[in-house]
Amino acid sequence: MGKGGKGEAAAAVAGEGENMAAWLVAKNTLKIMPFKLPPLGPYDVRVRMKAVGICGSDVHYLKEMRIAHFVVKEPMVIGHECAGIIEEVGDGVKHLAVGDRVALEPGISCWRCRHCKGGRYNLCDDMKFFATPPYHGSLADQIVHPGDLCFKLPDNVSLEEGAMCEPLSVGVHACRRADVGAEKSVLIMGAGPIGLVTMLSARAFGAPRIVIADVDDHRLSVAKSLGADATVKVSGNTEDLAGEIERIQAAMGGDIDVSLDCAGFSKTMSTALEATRPGGRVCLVGMGHNEMTVPLTSAAIREVDVVGIFRYKDTWPLCLEFLRSGKIDVKPLITHRFGFSQGEVEEAFEVSARGRDAIKVMFNL
Ligand SMILES: [Zn+2]
Ligand SMILES: [Zn+2]
Repeated sequence: MGKGGKGEAAAAVAGEGENMAAWLVAKNTLKIMPFKLPPLGPYDVRVRMKAVGICGSDVHYLKEMRIAHFVVKEPMVIGHECAGIIEEVGDGVKHLAVGDRVALEPGISCWRCRHCKGGRYNLCDDMKFFATPPYHGSLADQIVHPGDLCFKLPDNVSLEEGAMCEPLSVGVHACRRADVGAEKSVLIMGAGPIGLVTMLSARAFGAPRIVIADVDDHRLSVAKSLGADATVKVSGNTEDLAGEIERIQAAMGGDIDVSLDCAGFSKTMSTALEATRPGGRVCLVGMGHNEMTVPLTSAAIREVDVVGIFRYKDTWPLCLEFLRSGKIDVKPLITHRFGFSQGEVEEAFEVSARGRDAIKVMFNL
Protein backbone atom coordinates (compact mmCIF):
# COMPACT_ATOMS: atom_id res chain seq x y z
CA MET A 1 0.00 0.00 0.00
CA GLY A 2 3.07 2.27 -0.33
CA LYS A 3 2.02 5.73 -1.40
CA GLY A 4 5.47 7.29 -0.93
CA GLY A 5 6.38 10.21 -3.13
CA LYS A 6 2.79 11.41 -3.52
CA GLY A 7 1.97 14.99 -2.57
CA GLU A 8 0.20 16.11 0.57
CA ALA A 9 -3.20 16.26 -1.14
CA ALA A 10 -2.99 12.60 -2.10
CA ALA A 11 -1.91 11.74 1.43
CA ALA A 12 -5.02 13.47 2.76
CA VAL A 13 -7.19 11.25 0.56
CA ALA A 14 -5.37 8.01 1.25
CA GLY A 15 -3.09 8.14 4.25
CA GLU A 16 -0.48 5.45 4.76
CA GLY A 17 -2.25 2.26 5.74
CA GLU A 18 -5.55 4.05 6.26
CA ASN A 19 -8.72 2.00 5.87
CA MET A 20 -10.63 3.16 2.78
CA ALA A 21 -14.23 2.50 1.76
CA ALA A 22 -16.66 3.38 -1.04
CA TRP A 23 -19.09 5.92 0.42
CA LEU A 24 -22.47 6.80 -1.04
CA VAL A 25 -22.46 10.56 -0.45
CA ALA A 26 -25.23 11.80 -2.77
CA LYS A 27 -27.39 10.65 -5.68
CA ASN A 28 -25.15 9.05 -8.32
CA THR A 29 -22.05 9.90 -6.28
CA LEU A 30 -19.71 7.35 -4.74
CA LYS A 31 -16.43 8.47 -3.18
CA ILE A 32 -13.56 6.42 -1.83
CA MET A 33 -12.79 7.97 1.55
CA PRO A 34 -11.28 6.88 4.88
CA PHE A 35 -13.49 4.64 7.00
CA LYS A 36 -12.73 4.47 10.70
CA LEU A 37 -13.32 1.01 12.07
CA PRO A 38 -15.15 0.49 15.37
CA PRO A 39 -13.16 -1.15 18.19
CA LEU A 40 -13.01 -4.94 18.01
CA GLY A 41 -15.46 -6.51 20.47
CA PRO A 42 -14.74 -9.89 22.10
CA TYR A 43 -16.94 -11.75 19.61
CA ASP A 44 -15.91 -9.71 16.55
CA VAL A 45 -13.38 -10.28 13.81
CA ARG A 46 -11.56 -7.80 11.59
CA VAL A 47 -11.72 -8.89 7.95
CA ARG A 48 -9.65 -7.72 4.99
CA MET A 49 -12.14 -7.61 2.13
CA LYS A 50 -11.08 -9.46 -1.01
CA ALA A 51 -14.23 -9.84 -3.11
CA VAL A 52 -17.35 -7.66 -3.07
CA GLY A 53 -20.23 -7.98 -5.55
CA ILE A 54 -22.62 -5.25 -6.67
CA CYS A 55 -26.28 -5.95 -5.97
CA GLY A 56 -29.35 -4.41 -7.57
CA SER A 57 -30.12 -2.83 -4.21
CA ASP A 58 -26.70 -1.08 -4.15
CA VAL A 59 -27.44 0.41 -7.57
CA HIS A 60 -30.92 1.43 -6.42
CA TYR A 61 -29.49 3.27 -3.39
CA LEU A 62 -26.97 5.00 -5.66
CA LYS A 63 -29.71 6.24 -8.00
CA GLU A 64 -32.43 7.07 -5.47
CA MET A 65 -30.74 7.35 -2.05
CA ARG A 66 -33.56 5.19 -0.72
CA ILE A 67 -35.35 1.85 -0.93
CA ALA A 68 -38.90 1.94 0.40
CA HIS A 69 -38.73 3.49 3.90
CA PHE A 70 -34.94 3.08 4.18
CA VAL A 71 -33.56 6.55 3.36
CA VAL A 72 -29.85 7.42 3.11
CA LYS A 73 -29.60 10.61 5.20
CA GLU A 74 -25.87 10.55 5.95
CA PRO A 75 -22.94 9.29 3.85
CA MET A 76 -22.99 5.48 3.95
CA VAL A 77 -20.47 2.82 2.96
CA ILE A 78 -22.04 0.72 0.17
CA GLY A 79 -21.84 -3.03 -0.54
CA HIS A 80 -23.00 -6.23 1.17
CA GLU A 81 -22.02 -9.27 -0.96
CA CYS A 82 -18.58 -10.05 0.34
CA ALA A 83 -15.79 -12.37 1.36
CA GLY A 84 -12.35 -11.75 2.80
CA ILE A 85 -9.50 -12.89 5.00
CA ILE A 86 -9.46 -12.70 8.80
CA GLU A 87 -6.87 -10.24 10.12
CA GLU A 88 -7.77 -10.19 13.82
CA VAL A 89 -10.10 -12.14 16.10
CA GLY A 90 -11.70 -11.09 19.40
CA ASP A 91 -10.90 -13.10 22.54
CA GLY A 92 -14.27 -14.85 22.49
CA VAL A 93 -14.06 -16.08 18.88
CA LYS A 94 -13.02 -19.72 18.93
CA HIS A 95 -13.93 -21.03 15.47
CA LEU A 96 -11.85 -18.63 13.36
CA ALA A 97 -8.16 -17.74 13.16
CA VAL A 98 -6.07 -15.08 11.46
CA GLY A 99 -5.63 -16.00 7.80
CA ASP A 100 -8.95 -17.86 7.45
CA ARG A 101 -10.87 -17.11 4.26
CA VAL A 102 -14.51 -16.34 5.07
CA ALA A 103 -17.84 -15.41 3.48
CA LEU A 104 -19.80 -12.82 5.43
CA GLU A 105 -23.50 -12.86 6.19
CA PRO A 106 -24.50 -9.17 6.19
CA GLY A 107 -27.29 -8.93 8.78
CA ILE A 108 -26.69 -8.56 12.52
CA SER A 109 -29.91 -9.50 14.32
CA CYS A 110 -30.66 -8.81 17.99
CA TRP A 111 -31.27 -12.39 19.23
CA ARG A 112 -33.73 -10.91 21.76
CA CYS A 113 -36.95 -10.14 19.85
CA ARG A 114 -39.73 -12.69 19.26
CA HIS A 115 -38.69 -13.23 15.64
CA CYS A 116 -35.11 -13.99 16.58
CA LYS A 117 -36.26 -16.27 19.40
CA GLY A 118 -38.69 -17.97 17.03
CA GLY A 119 -35.88 -18.79 14.62
CA ARG A 120 -36.82 -16.27 11.95
CA TYR A 121 -34.06 -13.79 12.60
CA ASN A 122 -34.33 -12.31 9.10
CA LEU A 123 -37.54 -10.65 10.38
CA CYS A 124 -35.74 -9.15 13.41
CA ASP A 125 -37.18 -5.86 14.74
CA ASP A 126 -33.69 -4.46 15.19
CA MET A 127 -31.68 -5.76 12.25
CA LYS A 128 -28.39 -4.05 11.44
CA PHE A 129 -27.75 -4.91 7.81
CA PHE A 130 -24.79 -3.92 5.62
CA ALA A 131 -25.51 -0.86 3.49
CA THR A 132 -29.08 -0.45 4.70
CA PRO A 133 -29.22 2.98 6.32
CA PRO A 134 -28.08 3.93 8.86
CA TYR A 135 -25.62 1.00 8.81
CA HIS A 136 -22.44 0.90 6.77
CA GLY A 137 -21.71 -1.74 4.16
CA SER A 138 -18.64 -3.72 3.26
CA LEU A 139 -17.05 -2.27 0.11
CA ALA A 140 -13.97 -1.33 2.12
CA ASP A 141 -10.39 -2.45 2.65
CA GLN A 142 -11.32 -3.82 6.07
CA ILE A 143 -14.41 -4.13 8.21
CA VAL A 144 -15.29 -5.37 11.71
CA HIS A 145 -18.10 -7.95 11.90
CA PRO A 146 -19.43 -10.53 14.39
CA GLY A 147 -17.46 -13.76 14.11
CA ASP A 148 -20.64 -15.89 14.11
CA LEU A 149 -21.62 -14.27 10.78
CA CYS A 150 -18.32 -15.22 9.13
CA PHE A 151 -18.24 -18.66 7.49
CA LYS A 152 -14.97 -20.37 6.67
CA LEU A 153 -14.62 -21.18 2.98
CA PRO A 154 -13.87 -24.76 1.95
CA ASP A 155 -10.46 -25.03 0.25
CA ASN A 156 -11.94 -25.43 -3.22
CA VAL A 157 -14.26 -22.39 -2.92
CA SER A 158 -12.80 -19.06 -4.04
CA LEU A 159 -13.29 -15.70 -2.33
CA GLU A 160 -15.44 -14.55 -5.28
CA GLU A 161 -17.63 -17.62 -4.90
CA GLY A 162 -17.78 -16.83 -1.18
CA ALA A 163 -19.14 -13.36 -1.99
CA MET A 164 -21.75 -15.02 -4.22
CA CYS A 165 -23.23 -16.76 -1.15
CA GLU A 166 -25.20 -13.57 -0.51
CA PRO A 167 -27.26 -13.48 -3.72
CA LEU A 168 -27.35 -17.29 -3.73
CA SER A 169 -28.87 -17.15 -0.25
CA VAL A 170 -31.89 -15.36 -1.68
CA GLY A 171 -32.45 -18.27 -4.06
CA VAL A 172 -31.92 -20.87 -1.34
CA HIS A 173 -34.29 -19.13 1.07
CA ALA A 174 -36.90 -18.76 -1.68
CA CYS A 175 -36.66 -22.48 -2.47
CA ARG A 176 -37.10 -23.34 1.21
CA ARG A 177 -40.14 -21.07 1.52
CA ALA A 178 -41.59 -22.44 -1.71
CA ASP A 179 -40.90 -26.02 -0.60
CA VAL A 180 -38.94 -26.89 -3.75
CA GLY A 181 -37.80 -30.50 -3.85
CA ALA A 182 -37.31 -33.63 -5.90
CA GLU A 183 -41.00 -33.97 -6.73
CA LYS A 184 -41.65 -30.35 -7.63
CA SER A 185 -41.59 -28.96 -11.14
CA VAL A 186 -40.61 -25.31 -10.99
CA LEU A 187 -41.49 -22.21 -12.99
CA ILE A 188 -39.27 -19.17 -12.57
CA MET A 189 -40.44 -15.77 -13.79
CA GLY A 190 -37.46 -13.52 -14.56
CA ALA A 191 -33.94 -14.53 -15.62
CA GLY A 192 -32.04 -11.66 -14.02
CA PRO A 193 -29.36 -12.30 -11.39
CA ILE A 194 -31.91 -13.34 -8.75
CA GLY A 195 -33.89 -15.48 -11.19
CA LEU A 196 -30.66 -17.27 -12.11
CA VAL A 197 -29.51 -17.95 -8.54
CA THR A 198 -33.04 -19.12 -7.74
CA MET A 199 -32.90 -21.48 -10.72
CA LEU A 200 -29.52 -22.87 -9.63
CA SER A 201 -30.88 -23.32 -6.10
CA ALA A 202 -34.03 -25.06 -7.32
CA ARG A 203 -31.87 -27.53 -9.26
CA ALA A 204 -29.68 -28.14 -6.23
CA PHE A 205 -32.83 -28.73 -4.16
CA GLY A 206 -33.68 -31.51 -6.61
CA ALA A 207 -36.28 -29.94 -8.88
CA PRO A 208 -36.58 -32.36 -11.82
CA ARG A 209 -37.86 -29.85 -14.36
CA ILE A 210 -37.37 -26.07 -14.44
CA VAL A 211 -38.92 -23.65 -16.92
CA ILE A 212 -37.82 -20.03 -16.88
CA ALA A 213 -39.54 -17.07 -18.56
CA ASP A 214 -38.21 -13.61 -19.38
CA VAL A 215 -38.66 -10.74 -21.84
CA ASP A 216 -35.00 -10.79 -22.88
CA ASP A 217 -33.45 -13.30 -25.30
CA HIS A 218 -29.93 -12.91 -23.96
CA ARG A 219 -31.01 -13.59 -20.38
CA LEU A 220 -32.92 -16.66 -21.54
CA SER A 221 -29.88 -17.99 -23.39
CA VAL A 222 -27.81 -17.56 -20.21
CA ALA A 223 -30.51 -19.39 -18.23
CA LYS A 224 -30.47 -22.19 -20.80
CA SER A 225 -26.68 -22.49 -20.61
CA LEU A 226 -26.92 -22.65 -16.79
CA GLY A 227 -29.28 -25.60 -16.96
CA ALA A 228 -32.89 -24.49 -17.51
CA ASP A 229 -34.86 -27.34 -19.10
CA ALA A 230 -36.91 -24.91 -21.17
CA THR A 231 -37.12 -21.17 -21.65
CA VAL A 232 -40.14 -19.11 -22.68
CA LYS A 233 -39.94 -15.62 -24.11
CA VAL A 234 -42.72 -13.43 -22.75
CA SER A 235 -43.73 -9.81 -23.36
CA GLY A 236 -44.48 -6.87 -21.12
CA ASN A 237 -48.08 -6.66 -22.37
CA THR A 238 -50.90 -7.84 -20.14
CA GLU A 239 -52.99 -8.78 -23.20
CA ASP A 240 -50.55 -11.61 -23.95
CA LEU A 241 -51.08 -13.24 -20.56
CA ALA A 242 -53.42 -16.10 -21.51
CA GLY A 243 -51.35 -17.19 -24.50
CA GLU A 244 -48.13 -17.03 -22.53
CA ILE A 245 -49.53 -19.16 -19.71
CA GLU A 246 -50.47 -21.78 -22.30
CA ARG A 247 -46.94 -21.71 -23.76
CA ILE A 248 -45.36 -21.94 -20.31
CA GLN A 249 -47.54 -24.90 -19.34
CA ALA A 250 -46.75 -26.58 -22.64
CA ALA A 251 -43.02 -26.00 -22.05
CA MET A 252 -43.35 -27.67 -18.65
CA GLY A 253 -45.16 -30.63 -20.23
CA GLY A 254 -47.06 -31.31 -17.01
CA ASP A 255 -48.27 -29.61 -13.85
CA ILE A 256 -46.36 -26.65 -12.46
CA ASP A 257 -46.03 -27.39 -8.75
CA VAL A 258 -44.13 -24.28 -7.68
CA SER A 259 -43.69 -20.85 -9.26
CA LEU A 260 -41.11 -18.33 -8.10
CA ASP A 261 -41.67 -14.79 -9.33
CA CYS A 262 -38.21 -13.24 -9.43
CA ALA A 263 -39.39 -10.11 -11.24
CA GLY A 264 -42.29 -9.01 -9.07
CA PHE A 265 -44.58 -7.19 -11.48
CA SER A 266 -48.37 -7.46 -11.76
CA LYS A 267 -48.00 -9.42 -14.96
CA THR A 268 -45.30 -11.85 -13.81
CA MET A 269 -47.16 -12.52 -10.55
CA SER A 270 -50.44 -12.99 -12.45
CA THR A 271 -48.67 -15.49 -14.71
CA ALA A 272 -47.27 -17.36 -11.70
CA LEU A 273 -50.64 -17.50 -9.94
CA GLU A 274 -52.55 -18.67 -13.02
CA ALA A 275 -49.96 -21.15 -14.29
CA THR A 276 -49.47 -23.00 -11.00
CA ARG A 277 -51.51 -26.17 -10.47
CA PRO A 278 -54.30 -26.37 -7.87
CA GLY A 279 -52.70 -26.98 -4.48
CA GLY A 280 -49.35 -25.62 -5.66
CA ARG A 281 -47.34 -22.78 -4.27
CA VAL A 282 -46.20 -19.36 -5.49
CA CYS A 283 -43.32 -17.44 -3.93
CA LEU A 284 -42.85 -13.75 -4.62
CA VAL A 285 -39.13 -13.02 -4.70
CA GLY A 286 -38.65 -9.97 -6.94
CA MET A 287 -39.82 -6.51 -6.00
CA GLY A 288 -40.64 -4.82 -9.30
CA HIS A 289 -43.93 -3.33 -8.15
CA ASN A 290 -44.79 -2.26 -4.61
CA GLU A 291 -48.46 -2.80 -5.31
CA MET A 292 -49.99 -5.12 -7.87
CA THR A 293 -53.28 -6.15 -9.37
CA VAL A 294 -53.38 -9.94 -9.57
CA PRO A 295 -56.06 -12.68 -9.87
CA LEU A 296 -55.83 -13.62 -6.20
CA THR A 297 -59.36 -15.03 -5.91
CA SER A 298 -58.78 -17.46 -8.74
CA ALA A 299 -55.62 -18.62 -6.99
CA ALA A 300 -57.38 -18.83 -3.62
CA ILE A 301 -60.21 -21.06 -4.86
CA ARG A 302 -57.63 -23.43 -6.32
CA GLU A 303 -55.78 -23.40 -2.96
CA VAL A 304 -52.61 -22.05 -4.47
CA ASP A 305 -50.54 -20.91 -1.46
CA VAL A 306 -48.76 -17.58 -1.79
CA VAL A 307 -45.64 -16.82 0.23
CA GLY A 308 -43.01 -14.09 0.18
CA ILE A 309 -39.45 -13.77 1.35
CA PHE A 310 -37.42 -11.17 3.18
CA ARG A 311 -33.69 -11.66 2.64
CA TYR A 312 -32.76 -15.07 4.13
CA LYS A 313 -31.80 -16.91 7.28
CA ASP A 314 -29.31 -19.66 8.04
CA THR A 315 -28.32 -20.15 4.42
CA TRP A 316 -24.51 -19.75 4.37
CA PRO A 317 -23.66 -23.30 5.47
CA LEU A 318 -25.89 -24.81 2.77
CA CYS A 319 -24.65 -22.38 0.09
CA LEU A 320 -21.05 -23.28 0.91
CA GLU A 321 -21.88 -26.98 0.77
CA PHE A 322 -23.53 -26.53 -2.65
CA LEU A 323 -20.41 -24.70 -3.88
CA ARG A 324 -17.96 -27.17 -2.32
CA SER A 325 -19.73 -30.20 -3.76
CA GLY A 326 -20.15 -28.64 -7.19
CA LYS A 327 -23.95 -28.94 -7.00
CA ILE A 328 -24.00 -25.24 -7.80
CA ASP A 329 -21.48 -23.37 -9.94
CA VAL A 330 -21.82 -19.60 -9.54
CA LYS A 331 -18.66 -18.74 -11.48
CA PRO A 332 -20.45 -18.20 -14.84
CA LEU A 333 -22.58 -15.51 -13.16
CA ILE A 334 -19.54 -13.31 -12.53
CA THR A 335 -19.33 -11.40 -15.80
CA HIS A 336 -17.27 -8.32 -14.88
CA ARG A 337 -14.38 -7.62 -12.52
CA PHE A 338 -12.98 -4.34 -11.24
CA GLY A 339 -10.30 -3.17 -8.85
CA PHE A 340 -10.90 -0.82 -5.94
CA SER A 341 -10.07 2.69 -7.17
CA GLN A 342 -12.28 5.77 -7.55
CA GLY A 343 -12.47 5.38 -11.34
CA GLU A 344 -13.12 1.65 -11.25
CA VAL A 345 -15.81 1.93 -8.58
CA GLU A 346 -17.67 4.47 -10.73
CA GLU A 347 -17.29 2.37 -13.87
CA ALA A 348 -18.31 -0.85 -12.13
CA PHE A 349 -21.58 0.66 -10.88
CA GLU A 350 -22.30 2.02 -14.37
CA VAL A 351 -21.77 -1.43 -15.87
CA SER A 352 -24.00 -3.02 -13.23
CA ALA A 353 -26.74 -0.40 -13.67
CA ARG A 354 -26.70 -0.76 -17.46
CA GLY A 355 -27.49 -4.47 -17.16
CA ARG A 356 -27.33 -5.97 -20.66
CA ASP A 357 -24.72 -8.72 -20.50
CA ALA A 358 -23.71 -7.86 -16.93
CA ILE A 359 -24.99 -10.40 -14.42
CA LYS A 360 -22.70 -10.04 -11.43
CA VAL A 361 -20.10 -7.26 -11.26
CA MET A 362 -17.38 -8.08 -8.73
CA PHE A 363 -14.67 -6.02 -7.06
CA ASN A 364 -11.35 -7.67 -6.32
CA LEU A 365 -9.73 -5.72 -3.50
ZN1 LIG B 1 -27.39 -8.62 -2.71
ZN1 LIG C 1 -34.31 -9.72 16.77
